[in-house]
Amino acid sequence: MTPTPAHSAPESRRTALAEARLAAYLPMVYVAWADGDLEPEEIAGIRARMAAELPASCRDPLGSWLDPGAPPAAGELAVLLANIRRAGRELPEVARRSLTVLGEELALRRGTTLHPREREALSAIETALGLDGAEAAHGLVAEAPRQPEVIPPPAPFDVAALAAFLDGEQRATRERLRRLLASPEFAYLSEPDRETYRAQVLSWCHRLAEEGIGSLGLPREHGGAGDPAAFLAAFETIAHHDLSLLVKYGVQFGLFAGGIHQLGTERHHTAWLPAAGRLDLPGSFAMTETGHGSNVADLETTACYDPADGTFDIHTPHPGARKDYIGNAARDARLAVVFAQLETGGARQGVHAFIVPIREETGRILPGIHIEDCGPKLGLNGVDNGRIGFDHVRVPREALLDRFAAVAPDGTYSSPIASPGRRFFTTLGTLVGGRVSVALASVATAKSALCIAVRYAERRRQFGAPGGAETVLLDYPSHQRRLLPRLAQTYALHFALRELGARYVEMQTNGEGHRDVEGLAAGLKAVATWHATDTIQACREACGGQGYLSENRFAALKGDSDVFTTFEGDNTVLLQLVAKGLLSEYKKQFGDMHFLDLMRYVASQAGTAVRELNPIITRRTDPEHLRDPEFHLSAMRWREEHLLASVARRLRRRLGDGMEPTQAMLECQTHLLALARSHVDRVVVERANAAVAAITDVPGELGTVLRPLLALHALARLEADAGWLLEHGVLEAAKARAIRTQVDALCLELRPAALGLVDAFAIPDELLAAPIAID
Ligand SMILES: Cc1cc2nc3c(=O)[nH]c(=O)nc-3n(C[C@H](O)[C@H](O)[C@H](O)COP(=O)(O)OP(=O)(O)OC[C@H]3O[C@@H](n4cnc5c(N)ncnc54)[C@H](O)[C@@H]3O)c2cc1C
Repeated sequence: MTPTPAHSAPESRRTALAEARLAAYLPMVYVAWADGDLEPEEIAGIRARMAAELPASCRDPLGSWLDPGAPPAAGELAVLLANIRRAGRELPEVARRSLTVLGEELALRRGTTLHPREREALSAIETALGLDGAEAAHGLVAEAPRQPEVIPPPAPFDVAALAAFLDGEQRATRERLRRLLASPEFAYLSEPDRETYRAQVLSWCHRLAEEGIGSLGLPREHGGAGDPAAFLAAFETIAHHDLSLLVKYGVQFGLFAGGIHQLGTERHHTAWLPAAGRLDLPGSFAMTETGHGSNVADLETTACYDPADGTFDIHTPHPGARKDYIGNAARDARLAVVFAQLETGGARQGVHAFIVPIREETGRILPGIHIEDCGPKLGLNGVDNGRIGFDHVRVPREALLDRFAAVAPDGTYSSPIASPGRRFFTTLGTLVGGRVSVALASVATAKSALCIAVRYAERRRQFGAPGGAETVLLDYPSHQRRLLPRLAQTYALHFALRELGARYVEMQTNGEGHRDVEGLAAGLKAVATWHATDTIQACREACGGQGYLSENRFAALKGDSDVFTTFEGDNTVLLQLVAKGLLSEYKKQFGDMHFLDLMRYVASQAGTAVRELNPIITRRTDPEHLRDPEFHLSAMRWREEHLLASVARRLRRRLGDGMEPTQAMLECQTHLLALARSHVDRVVVERANAAVAAITDVPGELGTVLRPLLALHALARLEADAGWLLEHGVLEAAKARAIRTQVDALCLELRPAALGLVDAFAIPDELLAAPIAID
């Protein structure tokens, strides 16, 4: 029996569907293909067995359905199934006893009675298929069950109370921003061209400025609200909206106006801040150059002071020294805060910031300024990033932002900070607000992604037991594993960042604690931005094809937030700063100790700080212990102390052998990065636990859900680093296994809380704007 060459396979298959005599065979044909488990030889065997009982006229049409070389397409199988179902609906219940009985009844309905030998053959094939015939027949004839709508049970805690707790002291600012951004004037554009998009983003920015939201962090005496906490809260909330708006807002009010505020003095504040805060004066923050991004100290733009006319000559010596990627530069900025090497009296004094006009009010580019558009980007295409070159542009002496250094009319340089290195780091340190803001925005974007993915996972069904409702995605352990540890980390970072924000505000208000805030901001910025990138991708995949559609927002979230890992300090570079900060913590006690002596000291001190591992603890696997924050913190502290002591030993050895410090640090670089990451992990767990311990809601429900959530986060972090912990004996194999089991158990336990946990982020539907996430 071979398919007739005279007819195409589809035609022959249609003939088979019409042939009354073949009706008995069709259920078996469908099951043979749909089951998907049969080898080509087995299909050929079934075909041969059927053909033996059929008259010649029926062999070819049936054979065309069972040709292993040309299997029926999915659409043809769907037609076959629909045929069987249509006819099967009218059959008595008894027809569902087996595939053979079903076939017999289908044939009978079309006036054909099976010969006993045919019946025997069908029965033998059914047996050979190894199926439960009754179940298969039922599955064929029964209508596909209509999927019951999923109505999630109420959250096992008070969602509104958690939302209020997450909002914290700046609740009113957040509520105000949510209302404003959810209004129709802030509705997202659908596939705008670049110019339309940029114009819209600028116009949104103007609306924020009109509402006084741009100048929240600027001093009252210069038109602001003097409220840096409100500025951070506004930034975090805007991060739920279009991220081009967020970045444009950040460049104008955070970097440009904030740069003048932090690095300038009264005359600069009076001259520029009111207009900058109202967005009457659009500006840029021009630090990065094509040739130097992370390495700011070696920027090449020059600012040479000329005492003859009291001006600085701002110059780009070669194309590699052009300012690059500068936000606001390609289209809107009229003024720029430009970082350049200050030179006076023939001596270089390092990188300083200057106010440089780049456009007239009409938008015309000023003489000596060259601006290029950076062109299309991976995301943030509503922001006009550009390159700026300076061809001996003269600016007055007063253009130097002189909080940390001044140049007298005769060219004499002076600074309250004697050491050039300290001056440089103090200058950059004042810009830490950008890092705090980007870290907050990253967690906000992770919240948006999780909110969309968890809501979808609560509704979407896929696969299930035959005849029953399909399974809700979030009931799959794999889905819980993908979403819940990331949700837990989002909460942990939220709490850690809330504390960082508070310390930053304190630093702004009373000037205390610069160093601590800088180190913490660098570490948390790196971890939070990586977390956002990872979470958005996981959420995108968790929504399948729907996740890929632009209307469901992941395309924008991914493309627009991706660069968070790079700007405001590249993450890898930042983590090295964190590690160096940890090493030099010891330096505080010993002032200007030589680097080698310092490493000797760190190695000995950190070495004694690394406690003996307690063999009972390394073996304990009971859930109570595994969920105990004390266990998480002690394991994380041990890892951090061990990494600190061991890297100090390695550095000491190299320095002792006469190696240059830079080379020694290079050889230990990955070790330093591991130290920094372990430090940030520990800090996040510590701060998050402290925040939750402080909860005093009356029914105590919030702690009941947040404690296991934080345990999930901590255990997932330990699980991720189980290799190192096993290597160093912090865990025994049984304990590593128990941690994995406990992570699964916590995912299952927290599954009913997932929806409430994302709803507590209080992101308005208008901002979320993903159809799959909205009722
Ligand atoms: C969309 C966008 C907007 C921006 N807006 C502004 C703006 O408004 N103003 C502004 O001044 N700048 C802006 N930037 C620039 C941004 O701050 C820089 O891109 C960033 O600092 C990184 O510099 P780079 O691009 O030169 O990368 P590089 O420093 O060359 O880094 C490239 C890679 O090398 C690695 N690397 C570098 N140094 C080390 C090291 N010591 N050890 C190990 N690895 C290392 C990094 O991890 C990175 O992976 C923007 C950039 C973008 C993309």
